[in-house]
Amino acid sequence: MDALPSIAATLAALPQPRTKESQSPPMRIARIFAHRVELPLTEGSYNWSGGKSVSVFDSTVVGVETEDGLVGYGEVCPLGPFYLPAYAQGVRAGLQELAGHVLGYDPRELKKLNIRMDAALKGHPYVKSGIDMACWDLLGKSTGLPVCMLMGGRYGENVRLYRAISQVHPDDMAANVAQYREQGYTRFQLKVGGDPDTDIARIHAVRAILPSSHRLVADANTGWTQHEAMRVARSVHDLDVYIEQPCLTYEECLAVRRQTTHPFVLDENIDGMEMLMRARQDLAMDVVNLKISKFGGLTKAVQARDWCVSMGIAMTLEDSWGGDIVTAAIAHFAHSTPEPFRFTSTDFNSYNSVSNADGAPQRVDGHMQASVAPGLGVTPKFDVLGPKVVDVS
Ligand code: MG
Repeated sequence: MDALPSIAATLAALPQPRTKESQSPPMRIARIFAHRVELPLTEGSYNWSGGKSVSVFDSTVVGVETEDGLVGYGEVCPLGPFYLPAYAQGVRAGLQELAGHVLGYDPRELKKLNIRMDAALKGHPYVKSGIDMACWDLLGKSTGLPVCMLMGGRYGENVRLYRAISQVHPDDMAANVAQYREQGYTRFQLKVGGDPDTDIARIHAVRAILPSSHRLVADANTGWTQHEAMRVARSVHDLDVYIEQPCLTYEECLAVRRQTTHPFVLDENIDGMEMLMRARQDLAMDVVNLKISKFGGLTKAVQARDWCVSMGIAMTLEDSWGGDIVTAAIAHFAHSTPEPFRFTSTDFNSYNSVSNADGAPQRVDGHMQASVAPGLGVTPKFDVLGPKVVDVS
């Protein structure tokens, strides 16, 4: 009988850690630039709580270029200046301030890069989101892997989408839902948060035309006072509808949450890990909305996503708005999330009449897929983008 191999021989046969000499060469950020691009809406306008409305979104496409000339791309598009504490000119001004502080850093070292950005510029998470997203694109391009693989793996064939229904007359919202059902959507987010009686009519009108398998969310986007939210919730108590972010403050939302049996979604109040953990401790939500730029980029959004998976909290995985590059980032973020925790995502590029990049996911029967190409899998359309508005090297 042959002697068993020694432990030392067995260990020697295993793949060995790379020596210092065999490590990949450093990669350094040499330039950060940005272009502005306007994204008009195919429906003409997008309307939500409190009379807020946008007809043309102001988006910023961010490029991060390495010493070797490899370029990664990101995009940041606030939902106008009156939704979250973010505005389009602020993205560009913030990049001008921040870019010089990350030159020379390795874009693949995403957590180091985020710590550097946080040390150089307090707050302003949406400013950092474009740089972080572009560095994920670079990490993918430099390793030959799609971003969803780097975020943990691709779950399932595709990602189911919801359609946000702009706030108009109740009958028109029902007609719009019917139209988008024909395009394959099975999940709808109604923009409410207006006059409570009209909102009650909106929820009834839309739920009446949907089969029970279709999910309906009434998203008030902070628009109701606490007593209004309670009136609406009681008036639709017999309907299958989720209530999302009814009021402005976390405490108001928590009070409503504790007095209703509707599944409950928090969004605007949850802007980082601290609020996420507090809301979990209070059992303040069943679903949370993680927007990439609200958290400061994909790195922090993935941190929050992974924590939610561990805690059993389902998520809407998206951003505040965007074009093809944001849509690609959402697809990777969502496709790398275990399916039971994917409540919804959205395909912003189908709301806009301008496409700002090639290679982005396109909706098929209410679903989209993350690209299998390295990185985010998108190439900006420079003939559509405006001139460079930030260029720091
Ligand atoms: Mg929301």
